[in-house]
Amino acid sequence: MAKKEQATETTETKKAKTVKTATKATKTKKSAKRSEKAEDLSIEQRLENLFNLQQLLTEIDKIKTLRGELPYEVQDLEDEVAGLQTRIHKYHGDMKELDTIVGQQRIKITDSNALIAKYQEQLENVRNNREYDSLSKEIEFQGLEVELAEKKIKEFAYEVKNLKEEIEKSDVQLKERKIDLKAKKEELHEIVSETKIQEEQLREEAKQLEVSIEPRLLASFKRIRKGARNGLGIVTIQRDACGGCFSKIPPQRQLDIKQRKKIIVCENCGRILIDPDLAGVGVEQ
Ligand SMILES: [Zn+2]
Repeated sequence: MAKKEQATETTETKKAKTVKTATKATKTKKSAKRSEKAEDLSIEQRLENLFNLQQLLTEIDKIKTLRGELPYEVQDLEDEVAGLQTRIHKYHGDMKELDTIVGQQRIKITDSNALIAKYQEQLENVRNNREYDSLSKEIEFQGLEVELAEKKIKEFAYEVKNLKEEIEKSDVQLKERKIDLKAKKEELHEIVSETKIQEEQLREEAKQLEVSIEPRLLASFKRIRKGARNGLGIVTIQRDACGGCFSKIPPQRQLDIKQRKKIIVCENCGRILIDPDLAGVGVEQ
């Protein structure tokens, strides 16, 4: 019993193998077709090749888009980091200035206190009321000077406190942005190195495929593709409409496209139209 089951399995595996080989054979046949002179190809084959080329080019476009946004993100972060560094540098400069000003005020206080002490000593040896009044006024004036300097120091201390908070905040922001930047840079590097090989492979495949497309058809396809916003030069019919611009396609035209006897373009956008069934055959993976 067990043996019989095994036998069945083997047959099935064999069958699967045969199917695989068959697929391979088809593929080989197809590449043989490709190596024929492009001018000798039927319209059907031309359309099929062109659609295959379109798929390769779309893949390349996708890679470009993927990479196209990341460098900008990295640039933005680099700008932000540079901006924060400049801001922090300026804050430190302001801080130094405030320190100098506070130091000057302290010197003023010391000087005024020294003068007050000197005048008070002189006060003990005054000869008349005029001298007494004059010295008293001086002492009062220097006392006010000390008060004013102390008030300024208090104000600057408040500014220093705010500045310190700002510096701390900016330092945290800078640290975060630097981490973001490092991650984005790594991501970009990864994508670039990863997609580089992929893109080169796709380009090589596209180059090989282009040889199998009649030059005039290829040229007009490239021209259409260039003018199309989504990079599509050949599209399938979707729900009775052009797959590129979505404008309706008349039934007779749809029939002509299905017959695959001539190259038909969308009357609205100029894209080459292909029967979905034919395009489906072209999808291999
Ligand atoms: Zn169209």
